[in-house]
Amino acid sequence: MAQRLDSATRDALVERVRFYRDLGLTEFYRRPVDPARLAEWAAAAAESKELAELSPSQPDSQPLQTTHDSNLEDKPIPPRKPISAPPETATAVRPADPAAALQQIREELGDCTRCGLHKGRNKLVFGDGSATARLMFVGEGPGADEDAQGIPFVGKAGQLLNNMITAMGLKREDVYIANVVKCRPPGNRTPEPEEANTCTPFLFQQIDAVRPQVLVALGATAATYLLGQRQPLAGLRGRVHAYRGMQLIVTYHPAFLLRDPRQKKEAWADLQIAMRELGLKTPGKE
Ligand code: URA
Repeated sequence: MAQRLDSATRDALVERVRFYRDLGLTEFYRRPVDPARLAEWAAAAAESKELAELSPSQPDSQPLQTTHDSNLEDKPIPPRKPISAPPETATAVRPADPAAALQQIREELGDCTRCGLHKGRNKLVFGDGSATARLMFVGEGPGADEDAQGIPFVGKAGQLLNNMITAMGLKREDVYIANVVKCRPPGNRTPEPEEANTCTPFLFQQIDAVRPQVLVALGATAATYLLGQRQPLAGLRGRVHAYRGMQLIVTYHPAFLLRDPRQKKEAWADLQIAMRELGLKTPGKE
């Protein structure tokens, strides 16, 4: 029978997985577990106060699929799902009217139902900022605040992103911001490859319309889909990637920085690389 977790434990697990993912550890596999060992662990957990909340009788509990689930035990672990690569070449020059180009992409997107994410969305979150920005940020996907307002990065992570932009001596209106997916994944989960692969052609078009000098990938999901391959964030940060005629810099997602503020220094070092490429000086430092 599937085990059930109370919502607090489930949220804590989601947070932990998100934390690993932000560090670039994106692949998790269920290891087949001997049901006898599972029973031992369950007995041990019942004695532990912390784990005692794993009660199957919690009224608000949701099923957690574990290897204890007989349906899963028999099934092989599915292979990694492929990620679409971005088009190899970008448009050589910015369109004559980048704002009109963005508008055209928005119209093509329409009231999108191309993937399942549309079912849970309130507002599609297309992008925000200057169509002629020299700097563009790419996040993962809308959260609750973004879904409500239809604007990327307006929640807590957005406030931190705004602070990061200000620290670079820029205003939010000077940059362009978009996400890998344009509709909020349920429970803010990571977009599935099918969802991201369906949505990224529009992101690539947005990038080609704006043609920023520097692109900043915020977190592992953005880095993965921009580069078209999964790699740990640690190996991607701290340098400039040549990216379809632009420069790509990878850094931590602001939501990760909210969870682990010690990494802000590292993120600032990444942003300083972006500033160097853009010829920007740190405000207050001549
Ligand atoms: N996180 C993202 O990745 N994008 C947003 O727009 C908001 C939060």
